[in-house]
Amino acid sequence: MRTIGLIGGMSWESTAEYYRLLNEFTRERRGGLHSARCVLYSLDFAEIEELQVQGRWEESADILGAAAASLEKAGADMVLICTNTMHKVADQVQAAVTVPLLHLADATAEAVCAAGISRVALLGTVFTMEQDFYRARLEAYGLEVMVPDADARAVVHRIIYEELCLGIVKEESRKEYSRVIDALAEDGAEGVILGCTEIELLVRQEDSSVRVFPTTRLHAEAAVEAALATSEQAARP
Ligand code: GLU
Repeated sequence: MRTIGLIGGMSWESTAEYYRLLNEFTRERRGGLHSARCVLYSLDFAEIEELQVQGRWEESADILGAAAASLEKAGADMVLICTNTMHKVADQVQAAVTVPLLHLADATAEAVCAAGISRVALLGTVFTMEQDFYRARLEAYGLEVMVPDADARAVVHRIIYEELCLGIVKEESRKEYSRVIDALAEDGAEGVILGCTEIELLVRQEDSSVRVFPTTRLHAEAAVEAALATSEQAARP
């Protein structure tokens, strides 16, 4: 099995979920006491969040790039950025290592396409919903990507940073998300991407009127597939 390198801590609430899922999928696939070979570089999210708010993406790219290089030195055969938002600097992170970066939007788009869905809603931070770095990657798969209106985007974003990244899961926030998803479904969304790695700690399939695509789960699943693949079928570049 190859070694999976994780750049985590953004927030650690979802990184803990990555760790659990990687091990569960590995046990499901290999049985017995098998668990995932992995290395984690966990960052201080307060520093990263400050850079996000100030738009200092190049500095955050340097931090994530250095983390990726450390993971490679520690033996990682592939690197995962354990947050959708920080895929904003995915190209710089890939440039810092010689091993492949397993892009979260690829794993997600492949799952959406495999479900036969072409018009999909995207929930995440305002960076993920409003900027192009993530949506364009999804659109390259032929997907039509819908986002909530500005008021709903602000609500979705606030709940991520003020609640989910702090481990706070509230029933009223779950209902807020359900209402946002219902409105997108009424406008024609056939599925919804939970495009922030903490959202699936709040929203379950039963809270949604359309199929949900939980990105932490999909990313972890893709990583285990890549880690268990033969060397000819190495992780995507
Ligand atoms: N984990 C979240 C995401 O997947 C948000 C935290 C961050 O800004 O990195 O986008």
